Amino acid sequence: MGKLVKKIVRSINVDLDKCNGCRACEIACAAYHAKPRYSSFNPNRARIRMVIDAQNDEWVAVRSTNYTKAECDGRRTYTINGKKYSECSFCGMICPSRDLFKEPDSGLPLKCDMCEGEKEPLCVQICSRNALTYEEREVEVEADEQVKPDEMELGLQSLIDKYGMQKLSDAFARMSQKG
Ligand code: SF4
Ligand code: SF4
Repeated sequence: MGKLVKKIVRSINVDLDKCNGCRACEIACAAYHAKPRYSSFNPNRARIRMVIDAQNDEWVAVRSTNYTKAECDGRRTYTINGKKYSECSFCGMICPSRDLFKEPDSGLPLKCDMCEGEKEPLCVQICSRNALTYEEREVEVEADEQVKPDEMELGLQSLIDKYGMQKLSDAFARMSQKG
């Protein structure tokens, strides 16, 4: 076993009974991550999205987690308080079977970064129903577990999956020649 180090794990709990589907969390997240900050409010650029089935009175706030190029085979359904939910309703993977968590212009993955640097994530701050609650806890992990791909690496990986390494290298070479 490698050296153990302390790490703060940040999480957001979702209370399905309190959420009314107002989508303020989507707007706050999109605005916070717009460049320049707060210059746009497009929910399609949010890293938290409402999975909505109005017929079933189903509103689930889902935060994006990791990027994957392959669709999974999760086809389970869950019944909670008499409502039936598909497995995808709770899944935060940025996957090919749906458009959620992809930057609308480029298709690049939009991963939740927990509003790095903020005391409390913006989606939690804006939720007037307290459907989202923020939690921090300290855990011990092996030292090398800490290295995670950052947003740029995730974006590059999705471009490699889409166009292939050769096309991407050619594009980089052309761009560097233009200066
Ligand atoms: S802001 Fe809160 S109540 Fe509104 S949709 Fe998001 S989680 Fe639900
Ligand atoms: S924690 Fe921040 S980045 Fe993550 S979904 Fe909420 S507002 Fe978006």
